Amino acid sequence: VLQGRGICKSFGTKRDRRQVLFDVDIDVRERECLAIIGASGSGKSTLTRVLFGLEPADSGEITYRGQRLSPSHDSAASRALRDETGLVFQDPFGSLDPRWRVARTVGEPLRLRRDGPGDDEIVSRVDRALRAVGLDPKTFAARYPVDLSGGQAQRVAIARAIVADPCIILADEPMSAIDVAARVRILDAFAAIRQANPGMSLVMVSHDLGVVQHIADRVMVLHDGRVEESGPTARILGDPRTAYTRSLIEAAS
Ligand code: ATP
Ligand code: MG
Repeated sequence: VLQGRGICKSFGTKRDRRQVLFDVDIDVRERECLAIIGASGSGKSTLTRVLFGLEPADSGEITYRGQRLSPSHDSAASRALRDETGLVFQDPFGSLDPRWRVARTVGEPLRLRRDGPGDDEIVSRVDRALRAVGLDPKTFAARYPVDLSGGQAQRVAIARAIVADPCIILADEPMSAIDVAARVRILDAFAAIRQANPGMSLVMVSHDLGVVQHIADRVMVLHDGRVEESGPTARILGDPRTAYTRSLIEAAS
């Protein structure tokens, strides 16, 4: 559904440029979970931000459902991508407004829709999204972020990401700021969401290969801004073709 071809991206000034992505091709297929792995600084977050239209690429082409995203991110395809994507990032509290109760936070994507549902419908969809991530609306809907644990806050962020029935979820290290016990619940939440929405795709950036093995159908390995290799999860983790991938796997085990 979402495809990048020849993506290049640099940061810095004209004099002091650092290229971070080199000619990256990436495909997010319908229904799949694609994991992106690679050492810190290899460009995983930058790649996903560019692919999802949160930052412009220097060059390359991104298409969503076969429609090209314009450079200005103002085309119909860009708008469709924005409306049909749910985003989850590393720091759960950083992405929650401390002044908002959980119900308002989770319902916000529906309120931002131009032809969004009415208030009653929003309430019922917020309840459904909270239950999907294992949070009882009776207990949590009226809470403020300060009264949530890290794992609960991240599940609220995931509920917000799914409330508008996205076609694709991008999760960039969604579990790295969460303790181990809560990680299992978040992983379960993602698994349940995928089961309930079989058409949805999930792009997961993670350095936790246990998580990757558990949830991903395919893995893409980034190495200094280039695609090192990609393939089915079992193949990449079980029979890595390059020394770099092997070293990533050894470092994690
Ligand atoms: P991590 O595993 O630590 O999250 P990553 O693979 O997500 O790493 P990126 O965050 O994509 O890596 O960063 C890739 C490179 O781009 C790094 O060298 C980083 O310093 C640089 N970089 C990222 N964002 C910016 C920015 N806004 N301005 C300048 N440099 C940046
Ligand atoms: Mg990152």
